[in-house]
Amino acid sequence: MGITSYAIALGSNRPGRHGPPRRELMAALAELAPVAASPILDTPPLGPSIRRYANAVAIIETDEDPPALLARLKGIERAFGRRPGRRWGARVLDLDILLWSEGAWSGPGLTIPHPQFRGRGFVLDPLVRVVPDWRDPLSGRTVRQLCARLRGR
Ligand code: ATP
Ligand code: CA
Ligand code: CA
Repeated sequence: MGITSYAIALGSNRPGRHGPPRRELMAALAELAPVAASPILDTPPLGPSIRRYANAVAIIETDEDPPALLARLKGIERAFGRRPGRRWGARVLDLDILLWSEGAWSGPGLTIPHPQFRGRGFVLDPLVRVVPDWRDPLSGRTVRQLCARLRGR
């Protein structure tokens, strides 16, 4: 397939062996060796958790296909001490695949674009900082347009 690009969302709302959530994301960014990355943003909690999130987006280039990349990301989550548990609960590290340079992907346990990314400010805010002109292959809208729609700007 050759080298392709992915946008990865990083989230943490629980301290781990590297320190508080912001430190966990710095360590995860070092692990991912991205070609570009957003600043690390602080986000109020979503769902039942009371913890604040640190969120960021990284752009990586790799010859892995989507399932191979997802397997590697899950391995990194485990290495960072993520425990299986309640969705939206406390977690040291969450790595989601948002967008892929080759367009959409759908298979068992993996959907690209990430089905929720268009409605999440904590994803679109860092994403627009790094790849405002990338297009959502389903809606045809750019990241900048999706962000403006959500934020009412
Ligand atoms: P959300 O998907 O709403 O952000 P979450 O990240 O908390 O929730 P997880 O428990 O981390 O959910 O993941 C649940 C499953 O979602 C994963 O095991 C994975 O197989 C699947 N999945 C489907 N599409 C994607 C994607 N684009 N990126 C990452 N995981 C995905
Ligand atoms: Ca997620
Ligand atoms: Ca996830």
